[in-house]
Amino acid sequence: MERFEVAVVGGGQAGLAVSHELTGAGVEHVVLERGKVGETWRRRWDTFCLVTPNWTVQLPGGHYDGDDPDGYLPRDEVVAFLERYATGFGAPVREGVDIAGIEPDADGGFTLRTSDGELRANSVVLATGAYQRQHRPGAKTLPPDLLQIDIDGYRHPGALPAGRVLVVGSGQSGCQIAEELREAGREVVLACGRAPWASRSLGGRDIVWWAAETGFLDQPGTALAGPAARLAANVQATDMGAATTSTTARSRRWASRLPGASSARPVTG
Ligand SMILES: Cc1cc2nc3c(=O)[nH]c(=O)nc-3n(C[C@H](O)[C@H](O)[C@H](O)COP(=O)(O)OP(=O)(O)OC[C@H]3O[C@@H](n4cnc5c(N)ncnc54)[C@H](O)[C@@H]3O)c2cc1C
Repeated sequence: MERFEVAVVGGGQAGLAVSHELTGAGVEHVVLERGKVGETWRRRWDTFCLVTPNWTVQLPGGHYDGDDPDGYLPRDEVVAFLERYATGFGAPVREGVDIAGIEPDADGGFTLRTSDGELRANSVVLATGAYQRQHRPGAKTLPPDLLQIDIDGYRHPGALPAGRVLVVGSGQSGCQIAEELREAGREVVLACGRAPWASRSLGGRDIVWWAAETGFLDQPGTALAGPAARLAANVQATDMGAATTSTTARSRRWASRLPGASSARPVTG
């Protein structure tokens, strides 16, 4: 059975960054990815773009070096960036390897059960990401014959059946998709949750610049008001259409609240 010093599970930005550091330290390892490098980003909808400016793309040994630091990379360019990053330092990635289970060994190491057989490692780094489980507040209140999809199932407006669309969730993705549907001529209802909304830019600077500059992004978890703060949504400031005007202003006309989603906050215009 193959044995590695370290097995990294997940070939997203975290797994690749760990691999970069292990490579630099000369530690033998393997990165196991069930899809392809950057798989999470590949699954996003067609017009997806980052909501964080390109200058925030700062992996160890791999900063954004394009000519649009204040822009927002589209999906395929995010994937291409991660692919270049991985090949740039020869990350030992094995794609298409799904980890089904990890058992501790008597010698202090681990056995990993993979779709490609078993392997052993002295240490395991789990870099499998977040946002993998769907959450459908209020879904039981909707008619069963209504098409209901999660964000992974959305591609573009033309792929949805004709008619009005209810978008549940007023964070970055919900607003971005609601805006796209609206611009495609759909009647859209946006069910709002607790995600705070802010202008894309203040004083000519992107809101993320302010978050970085004021030290907000450097706060450790221990500085949070309580455990629940870890679950707070990011500030919504996507606004694909116009980088200086908040989506908030334009969407208030059609914002609403999904009955049954008890945690939702009504927002009306
Ligand atoms: C809709 C959406 C929009 C976002 N937009 C932004 C943005 O604009 N800017 C930003 O900075 N962040 C954004 N994020 C957050 C960003 O996607 C995550 O912070 C980032 O992907 C985390 O990187 P990661 O490497 O930890 O996890 P991931 O990128 O999720 O990588 C985890 C990897 O592990 C693999 N994996 C999982 N389980 C297994 C297994 N059992 N076996 C093998 N492999 C496995 C997955 O296939 C995946 O490739 C967004 C998130 C979502 C959901």
